[in-house]
Amino acid sequence: MLAAMDPKINMIQVASPINWDEYFMFQAILASYRSKDPSTKVGAVFVDQNQHQISMGYNGFVAGIDESKLPWGKEPGVGLEHQKYGYVVHAEANAILHAHGSLAGSKLYVTHFPCNECAKMVASKKISEVVYLSDKHHHLEMNRIAKKIFDLTGLRYRQLHLDEGLVENLHGHFLSSIRDT
Ligand SMILES: [Zn+2]
Repeated sequence: MLAAMDPKINMIQVASPINWDEYFMFQAILASYRSKDPSTKVGAVFVDQNQHQISMGYNGFVAGIDESKLPWGKEPGVGLEHQKYGYVVHAEANAILHAHGSLAGSKLYVTHFPCNECAKMVASKKISEVVYLSDKHHHLEMNRIAKKIFDLTGLRYRQLHLDEGLVENLHGHFLSSIRDT
């Protein structure tokens, strides 16, 4: 029998190089990469209390629709009928639509702070917390309304800052993973 002190046995405690917040935000970023929207790619992931992913979504046209007949433009001069806004389902909404079970008590990881329409749905689903990456639309009314909805329903929200060094490490991990095949 080998003794615990034997150098051939690795008993060193090793921490995961990525924590759960970072892991699920990267899942949301990966989901956003699926989006065909040329201007804004948004991803969303719902996670239960056991750190299991329940559902994911990204912004895209209505499921099953003939996308070749729909515009990705967003110029206000042409009317809603000819803008993407008339036909796109937001990432959070898609993640809610695709969830099979209850979302109550789950956390939402999303690449952009939710708009007021998604905030209505997220709050109604009794989500416990919203973790977001970008708040670049913080100056817009829809953003203020979303925060008011979260505040008045007691839904916590916080911004996550990802370390660029972690992205560099992941880049190396991705490359070594595909080169080892
Ligand atoms: Zn939205």
